[in-house]
Amino acid sequence: MVAWLTKRWADLSIAKKLYFAVGIMAALIAAELITLRFSMHTLTAVRAFVGGEGLWSKAQKDALYSLQRYVSTRDEADYQEFHSQLRIPEGDHIARLALEKPTPDLAEARRGFLQGQVHGDDITPMIDLLRRFYWVHYIDHAVKLWGQGDDLLTELRASAVAYHATVSGASPDPAETRRLLDQIQSLNRRLTQVETDFSNTLAAGSRWLERILMTLLFFAVLIVESIGITITYLTSRSLARGLAELNDAAQRIGRGDFGFRVATRSRDELGRMGRAINEMGAQLQASYTELEMRVEERTAELKGMAEENARLYAEAKSALQSRDEFLSIASHELKTPLTALSLQLQMMKNNLNALPTEGTNAARAFAEDPKLQKPLTGALSQVRNLSDLIEELMDLTRLRLGKFNLRPELCDVAKIAREVVEHFREAAAKKGSTLALQAPAPVLGNYDPTRILQILNNLVSNAIKYGRGNPICLRVERAADGTARLSVSDHGVGITPEEQARIFERFERGRSGEGVSGLGLGLYITRQIVEAHGGTIEVQSRPGDGSTFTVSLSA
Ligand code: ADP
Repeated sequence: MVAWLTKRWADLSIAKKLYFAVGIMAALIAAELITLRFSMHTLTAVRAFVGGEGLWSKAQKDALYSLQRYVSTRDEADYQEFHSQLRIPEGDHIARLALEKPTPDLAEARRGFLQGQVHGDDITPMIDLLRRFYWVHYIDHAVKLWGQGDDLLTELRASAVAYHATVSGASPDPAETRRLLDQIQSLNRRLTQVETDFSNTLAAGSRWLERILMTLLFFAVLIVESIGITITYLTSRSLARGLAELNDAAQRIGRGDFGFRVATRSRDELGRMGRAINEMGAQLQASYTELEMRVEERTAELKGMAEENARLYAEAKSALQSRDEFLSIASHELKTPLTALSLQLQMMKNNLNALPTEGTNAARAFAEDPKLQKPLTGALSQVRNLSDLIEELMDLTRLRLGKFNLRPELCDVAKIAREVVEHFREAAAKKGSTLALQAPAPVLGNYDPTRILQILNNLVSNAIKYGRGNPICLRVERAADGTARLSVSDHGVGITPEEQARIFERFERGRSGEGVSGLGLGLYITRQIVEAHGGTIEVQSRPGDGSTFTVSLSA
């Protein structure tokens, strides 16, 4: 039964639980108020009885006083006053008799009390007190005393009537008069005793009732407060515990413990929230598991891709290696016959040029015959170009295969620049360009002179190739910061900013290179040489205005 009730209670919605708790509290407070009202009602009745008793006693005393006056004055008015004073106790008497009937006559009782000058509002509490507590010793005793008082009063009235009849007769008997007066005095004393007893009994009853009512009130308040506090405590504790469990569950799930489940013991809002959190946890767990699976799959895929990439990279690397090795071998293999061919062509040219000095006209005519000279010069130039290209390729493969070494020694860059200008003067002139040198002073440094020569060769040959026949200037100087600064300026086609960013890379050529032979390696090799010296190279150029390449080498 208790388990069933607990379950029913747990399944109630929180709102219903709160309504229930508040409802019980309201009912208890109502009960407390009813108890209070009952207590007030009863105490009002006790107070009214004490008041009524006062009126009763006063009327009795006043009546006796009027009777005594009548004894001395024999004035009929005093005798009538005696009777009229007795109307008050008579009213109370009527009320008591009406209430003592087997079926109490409440209307009669009310009339009686009104005659006894009891206040109309006090009558109902008094009737209720008598009817409810007639079994209580004090009330029972007080009612009995009240009855005795009424009886004595009846006797007093009878004695008074007899006395009145005696004294108002033609010849009153003094002995009878005396006896009646003594009887009246005796009744008065007994009445006073009964009144005192009644009054004491009422006071004792009132104290007893007060104690009972206070105890009743105390327990009523105690019970109401205890039940209220207990219900509030139990309800709030169950709510707080439920909320704490939900909070804990939400936090654990939030921290990734998706397998955690809340114990759902009820079907109220907390139970529903618990089930919702459990569902959320289950869904999160399912999505997390799925996510993990996907991550695993994707990781496996990526691993496969990474392995494939690594394989491709290794293959590409090995292909590049093979290419570099092939280029290295090929350029070396080509270099030897090309050098031989170049030497043979040079020898042929030398021999041909020597012919006229040997004298015969025919020989001179043969030697100077343009049909012979032109192809020979052309062939020499082509062989030289080819030789330069192969030289570049050899440098590239040396760089790629890590066989590129510097042989630094103290050298004068200005002197090397002078050699370069001399070397290229004719080639520049053929293109219509002048080649000026500004190298006012020696610029000494610990550099590889062959590579410095190569740098200047590349930059000056490019200036001639892309210079559109305009003047070219080569400057060599010591900068304020101590670095050796070599710059080659032309007024040729220029280079766009996008191309400036990539022309120093391998096999990169600009638009200016279109129609001009080249591999796109010259500037790459130049940069490698400059950087191997710990220097920098940069270009400043505007398309159409020409370019200036500046190399800075630390001293
Ligand atoms: P190549 O001259 O063999 O093409 P380079 O590496 O020497 O290779 O030059 C790369 C590119 O830079 C050239 O193709 C050309 O477009 C551009 N370039 C180099 N020097 C100049 C210059 N002085 N004026 C204009 N363009 C140049």
